[in-house]
Amino acid sequence: MAQNEDEVQLKKIYTQSLTNGKSYAWLDYLSNQIGGRLSGSFNAERAVEYTKAQLDSLGLDRVWLQPVMVPKWTRGIKEFAYIEYSPGDTNNIDICALGGSVATPSGGLKGNVIEVQGLEDLEKLGEEKIKGKIVFYNRPMQADLIQTFEAYGGCVDQRYSGAAEAAKYGAVGVIVRSMNLRLDDYPHTGSMSYGDTPASKRIPAAAISTNGAELLSSVLALNKDIKFYFRQTCKVFPDAQSFNVIGEIKGSTYPNEIITVGGHLDSWDLGDGSHDDGAGCVQSMEVLRLLKETGYKPKRTIRAVLFMNEENGLRGATKYAEVAKEKEENHVFALESDAGGFTPRGFSFDCDDANFKQITSWEPLFKPYLIHYFEKGGSGADVGPLKGNGTVLAGLRPDSQRYFDHHHAANDTFEHVNKRELELGAATMTALVYLIDKYGTVPSEKVKG
Ligand SMILES: [Zn+2]
Repeated sequence: MAQNEDEVQLKKIYTQSLTNGKSYAWLDYLSNQIGGRLSGSFNAERAVEYTKAQLDSLGLDRVWLQPVMVPKWTRGIKEFAYIEYSPGDTNNIDICALGGSVATPSGGLKGNVIEVQGLEDLEKLGEEKIKGKIVFYNRPMQADLIQTFEAYGGCVDQRYSGAAEAAKYGAVGVIVRSMNLRLDDYPHTGSMSYGDTPASKRIPAAAISTNGAELLSSVLALNKDIKFYFRQTCKVFPDAQSFNVIGEIKGSTYPNEIITVGGHLDSWDLGDGSHDDGAGCVQSMEVLRLLKETGYKPKRTIRAVLFMNEENGLRGATKYAEVAKEKEENHVFALESDAGGFTPRGFSFDCDDANFKQITSWEPLFKPYLIHYFEKGGSGADVGPLKGNGTVLAGLRPDSQRYFDHHHAANDTFEHVNKRELELGAATMTALVYLIDKYGTVPSEKVKG
């Protein structure tokens, strides 16, 4: 009997999302009327205003802005780069500054290039071979990994720490192969860090497209004396005021048990941030709307949280968890969607065995929707700070084969999101939130009694 009721409710949720959904129209506005939403930018502010107004229109119990200070980094004018084979004989190359990078000198930076396959090559080469040169990190994402996020994880240290590490050996700049599995002409940005490198020793860092990386590598194989020139004018400003956007349906029976569902409202600036992570934001808003539209009255408090500044600081997520702790809120479950608006496959979980067992007992309910992936291991960056006190964390896992074609690049745009795929994701998230709300989580030993 209970099972039957759940089947009926899931059917209602999927039907509503696919026939009368709002997620795609919201994403259209965020992407095409607003666009890229880098933390601290005017567009990020517009996105806060817009999503708050949309949440206000849903007739929720409460909608509010949670203030948070965010870093403000700007790209400046379009970057420019070329390979110089000999004086006057050059080939322009598309690059983009990595987020957080310093500018080059105003006239640009030119130097010989040394190609490496990763951070560990620097020590082998030593200062003698690196000093005064531009280090070119060219280890590709591993193609035979079916989980493309694993391939990303195996490469992204080049982008994140490449400049800080190369500077230790006297490099003057770094060029990093884009985190992209396919060969194309889009450079992919993303955050990088100088760690404890003093300001005077920071060197500029840029991404080169995968085609550009292949070209540069083949040219270097013929002639290691060629030069690379690049110019970028990025800049760091003082921290700016921003907000997490939060909407809430108050629980009817256990209002103090909070279920959070979220994505991040900021994005990189090259595209319009449709997959990363406009999709996760509109899906999270849609969870609240679908619960209401299907006539479900949550027992627990359900919140949609649009986190600010996931990409280059995680300040929004940190603030949300900080405030939750201050207020002694009991967060029982937190679900994130930040892996693109592609066909949902299932979820990954960060939880104990008892909760995982309960969740996997619901697998048959998801079968008609081709949702089959229920695995432990990882949730998401924005719900991560809520970890502890038995909070069950989860991440939506869409098909990831095309995600890194678009991730942080100029082609992360609205036309690359499929309406039905986006809606299926929203419904899948809502279905899990419904089940968690109805049956509750299994309290951890510590909390019990
Ligand atoms: Zn993201």
